[in-house]
Amino acid sequence: MPLNLVFFGPPGAGKGTQADRFAARHHIPKISTGDILRKAIQDGTRVGQLVRATLQCGSLVGDDVMISIVAERLEQPDTANGFVLDGFPRTIPQAAALDELLTDRGGVSVIALVVHADEVVRRLAERGREDDDAFVIRERLAVYSRDTEPVLEYYRRRGVVTVLDGNRPLDEVSADIDAAIKRKNV
Ligand code: ADP
Repeated sequence: MPLNLVFFGPPGAGKGTQADRFAARHHIPKISTGDILRKAIQDGTRVGQLVRATLQCGSLVGDDVMISIVAERLEQPDTANGFVLDGFPRTIPQAAALDELLTDRGGVSVIALVVHADEVVRRLAERGREDDDAFVIRERLAVYSRDTEPVLEYYRRRGVVTVLDGNRPLDEVSADIDAAIKRKNV
């Protein structure tokens, strides 16, 4: 069975870091839609020009654009044994599209990291990315509760979600993620 994973959580939950570590340990690619978009902006591609303003204000890029980016990435042969998705799906239409992309490829397991709101704000302020100023952070958190949290419910109904406490040292969280995945794949 391929190891198809979705790392889920609010901005600042540490899912990018945990996704990196998990992917490296298990020799599968990490697919971060935020990284893909930031690279497109940096390279000045057509998509990059299209999404630049959206990222700056903390809104979501349109589902069509995101779905085609991920569809193309999942066609690459390095995803055959599995992958870690970080930052996708973020809306119900994206989740439905992912289901279709994964027909006959095994479903996904979802790792959801829960972090206190004040910790999230502290971590983001520390990180200091271009979209990490106070106003944009507030917008991204609002978008998360409105558009992205329902995705968790979508997967919960299917019984594929493991919720983990992200307010702990990185190594502890990593160990819990491994244990959870092992349980699911026995
Ligand atoms: P964070 O984990 O801090 O929220 P990301 O790097 O995942 O940051 O995403 C940064 C920005 O990229 C988002 O605020 C959004 O504008 C855009 N983005 C990334 N992934 C998606 C997606 N799946 N759908 C829509 N927009 C996205």
